[in-house]
Amino acid sequence: MLSITQWLRHGWLPVLPLAALVAQHFQWLDLDTLPLPALPLALLGSAAALGVFFKASRVGVAALLVLGCYLALDTSFIDAAEAELLLALLAFNLAVLAWTRDRSPLNGFGLLLGALVAAQVAAFFFLRQCCARWLTGGLPLPGSGLPASLLDGYTAADLLLAGAVPVVLAAWIRRADQTGAALLTCILLLVLGSVFGGMPASLPLFALVIGGLLLILAVRTVYELAFRDDLTGIPSRRAYSRYLLTLGRHFSIAVVDIDHFKKLNDRHGHQVGDQALRMVAAQIARHGGGHAFRYGGEEFVVVVPGRDRERAQQSLERMREKIADYPLRLRSAGRSRKSDAKARGRRGQGGGKVIRTTVSVGIASSSAGMKSPTEVLQAADKALYRAKRGGRNRVCTAKS
Ligand code: GH3
Ligand code: MG
Ligand code: MG
Repeated sequence: MLSITQWLRHGWLPVLPLAALVAQHFQWLDLDTLPLPALPLALLGSAAALGVFFKASRVGVAALLVLGCYLALDTSFIDAAEAELLLALLAFNLAVLAWTRDRSPLNGFGLLLGALVAAQVAAFFFLRQCCARWLTGGLPLPGSGLPASLLDGYTAADLLLAGAVPVVLAAWIRRADQTGAALLTCILLLVLGSVFGGMPASLPLFALVIGGLLLILAVRTVYELAFRDDLTGIPSRRAYSRYLLTLGRHFSIAVVDIDHFKKLNDRHGHQVGDQALRMVAAQIARHGGGHAFRYGGEEFVVVVPGRDRERAQQSLERMREKIADYPLRLRSAGRSRKSDAKARGRRGQGGGKVIRTTVSVGIASSSAGMKSPTEVLQAADKALYRAKRGGRNRVCTAKS
């Protein structure tokens, strides 16, 4: 379920296109002076290429679908009523896409998606030949069995649009990620365009805004690949090196190392080891009191900017306690991650085997004699060895 921070974190996605639309409406921004229609093509094309290349299939395929519709609607081949249907079909396809998992589209999955889109195009042209009235006219469709009053006056496009919203909303609530939020935004824009009658006349603007959104998302995917640790989801060592460039003169660095981790791996297997790493990383990120990074293996660093050493020490001490007290429930082999949520609900109520793990922490702070992050990290490392020698599960501070 979505937390408030997640709602806020994804908030920029709908705000960005809405701001563009408001700016256009009040003529603060004259998009007509931009090199339309080439710009949406460039944005959507780049988002599609990055999405496909970096295996962010939802972004890549979404960009391709919007691009396909944009190009199709640019022809005189499709009339206004058919354009409405095509855009509604686009919304429904985006909603279904939101339920898929990111993977390479250059394989069987891509072929399947291609076949589904081709089938819809074929059905569109077939229905257009034999029964155009059903395609764009009011429902009920013959043989639908529903009472006429229920669907009367609605077109197939209305139903597709109305159906797309709960489908994409459910996908976003389930996964709570940025791509889901972007797809939801695309669909809401399509709905707004249809309700207020702006579509398909404002299609270039829509394509521009969505192209920009998907491109930002694709670039973000590349950024995450470069700077986020895949296993634990926290920033990686490369992100740490980058972060150091932004540090001021006063800071503390803590090195956090899991105790007897090799034994844990040997006793319970690498999968449990990975589970422990994820738990420790999450606790460090949450309670460490600074910016947490996975340095490598079972070692993490926390950088706390500012002069307040005592506060940094206190939060790291609290973090150490939280980790030591955390009951890590072993996931039985073959149990899927899907049931993790249920297991979390049962935590502390018995069931699977519970283990605990501890960490040792070494902290050092910048000073007149120790200015560079490399020196401070070395001192923190020495303090960590003292913590290990002193019996582990403790925080040691470097002498300054
Ligand atoms: P100490 O208390 O002295 O730190 O002992 P330790 O066993 O934690 O330290 P050691 O350096 O001997 O072992 C670290 C182990 O961490 C060895 C390696 O197999 C394991 N490890 C490193 N990266 C990963 C990973 O991504 N997943 C898993 N499961 N294990 C990892
Ligand atoms: Mg180590
Ligand atoms: Mg260790």
